[in-house]
Amino acid sequence: ATHARTRATGFRLDEGRLVAVETEAGAIPCDRAVVAAGARSGALTASFGDRLPLESERGYHVMIADAEAGPRTPVMASDAKMVVNAMAGGLRAAGQVEFAGLDAAPNWKRAEILRDHLTSMFPDLPETVPAERIRMWLGHRPSMPDGRPCIGRARRTADVVYAFGHGHVGLVGSARTGRLVAQLVGGEAPEIPLAPFDPRRFL
Ligand SMILES: Cc1cc2nc3c(=O)[nH]c(=O)nc-3n(C[C@H](O)[C@H](O)[C@H](O)COP(=O)(O)OP(=O)(O)OC[C@H]3O[C@@H](n4cnc5c(N)ncnc54)[C@H](O)[C@@H]3O)c2cc1C
Repeated sequence: ATHARTRATGFRLDEGRLVAVETEAGAIPCDRAVVAAGARSGALTASFGDRLPLESERGYHVMIADAEAGPRTPVMASDAKMVVNAMAGGLRAAGQVEFAGLDAAPNWKRAEILRDHLTSMFPDLPETVPAERIRMWLGHRPSMPDGRPCIGRARRTADVVYAFGHGHVGLVGSARTGRLVAQLVGGEAPEIPLAPFDPRRFL
């Protein structure tokens, strides 16, 4: 297998059959493709005329290195709407939902809210954590309006399979989705009914 580190920009079809994926590094000949580009999948599906209501639910995390305190097991702090984990790299709190699209600059105030929840949750943390011990991150949850992912074929060709839109649970859902995609690409019957995940429910 070849791992091409480049951006896919579109597809080349010949009489309804896939012949190549177009990328910034040139065309890659192939007869099957999977669109699994997370919140950025929409531009690729739109090249088939499949305009799907995929939106990024932007989320943030904050990491405190060498934390003086933390939970022994992962904790869902429901009043702060965040998940707290003691990790090898530090104490992490992840949460927040922001609708600002794919390209807006991060609003780090949202990560600061998570940091402040952490310091009130764990009084042994310093009230003001030194900036050099803090790292912040913005990520995109690829979300559909009904909360279900899109797993199914493109309308214009059965050779392209969609697998995105897992929202808040894409890590949890990844292995099962991978198996379903392998079944679709391999021409096998999927092991569960895929109608609830069919992208055509929005088309
Ligand atoms: C703060 C936060 C906390 C979360 N917590 C959890 C959790 O606890 N459990 C859980 O299950 N999920 C969680 N999620 C959600 C999870 O991260 C996502 O659902 C998951 O990452 C989606 O996986 P994906 O592979 O579809 O997309 P991504 O992980 O976004 O991967 C898409 C990949 O496609 C690449 N790509 C994009 N465009 C192109 C292109 N044109 N050509 C080639 N490559 C392209 C990107 O570079 C990226 O590598 C969380 C998300 C956030 C933001």
